[in-house]
Amino acid sequence: MAIPNIESRLAPLMSNKRQELIIFPTEKCNFRCTYCYEDYTIGRMSDDTIGGIKAFLDKRAPELNELYLSWFGGEPLVAKDIVRDISAYASALAKANPDLRYVSTMTTNAYYLTPSTLTELTAVGVLRYQITLDGPREMHNRTRLRADGKGTFDRIWENLLAIRDSKEPVSITLRVHHDAENFTQLDPLIEDIRREFIHDTRFSVFFKSLEKLGGPNDANIKTMSSKEKKVALKMLKHKLYGDDFVEPEEELSVCYASQPNSLIIRADGKIGKCTVALNDQRNHIGSLRSDGTLELNSKRLTPWIKGLATLDPATLSCPLSVLGTE
Ligand code: SF4
Repeated sequence: MAIPNIESRLAPLMSNKRQELIIFPTEKCNFRCTYCYEDYTIGRMSDDTIGGIKAFLDKRAPELNELYLSWFGGEPLVAKDIVRDISAYASALAKANPDLRYVSTMTTNAYYLTPSTLTELTAVGVLRYQITLDGPREMHNRTRLRADGKGTFDRIWENLLAIRDSKEPVSITLRVHHDAENFTQLDPLIEDIRREFIHDTRFSVFFKSLEKLGGPNDANIKTMSSKEKKVALKMLKHKLYGDDFVEPEEELSVCYASQPNSLIIRADGKIGKCTVALNDQRNHIGSLRSDGTLELNSKRLTPWIKGLATLDPATLSCPLSVLGTE
């Protein structure tokens, strides 16, 4: 499929004036979701790696127009002090460099996203959040479990209501998971979202069907074909927004892993591109030194960004799917 003006749409993503870091302050999550692909073996980020990130930001900030810090994990709020420390540092750099636009986002399970934590994080610029629900309470509590096996819905919902009742200038994407069997059972959650959140413009909803991403329970995940996903998505959106809902035009999807200046920084200081293939050697493209220098293996980096040369939409949207062997 040819995409109109693809080169001009990709140009800003290739600019050296743009930098994204997806940071894992810890990889020991407080949850054990049944479909998770992470192995929880790497703990908290060391002071050396934290210092390396700050030194890297020191060097890059004067050259940049846009800096994106995306917090990821295992749950980033398990290491909230690291998030605050590095975010405060980046905020100060953005103030000192007036041409630099700084945006910070977080993928969080929201278990620890209490009103006081939200206030602390907004003060250091973390303003966009993606929070996952696996369906109404009973359904969610079967898959999104704490490390001790207990359910998590009530606490997450309580935190979401508190965010809605706050005046914080945040944006919240509710990511609603489903599989091939349970997508018709989301109605009670959709009703609750319609009642509590849909009129607040800070909230949006993103339905996502589960995939097999390399976790130990992959065999039990009931995935959908692309055609089934389209049908399910249309049905779910109509339930959420009503029958007048008009599907927006499909946009060019470019994964961060396809972008040359987007890097993941693991809790152990390793550098990669993709947030899924965490134990794949092809995704270990280098290391961060404590002086902020990136030691990059260009032979491993190049295949991730080849979509920018081929302009192939499938490669751009998921370079892992066409990566090839070393
Ligand atoms: S490369 Fe593919 S699997 Fe990895 S983060 Fe991007 S879209 Fe996801």
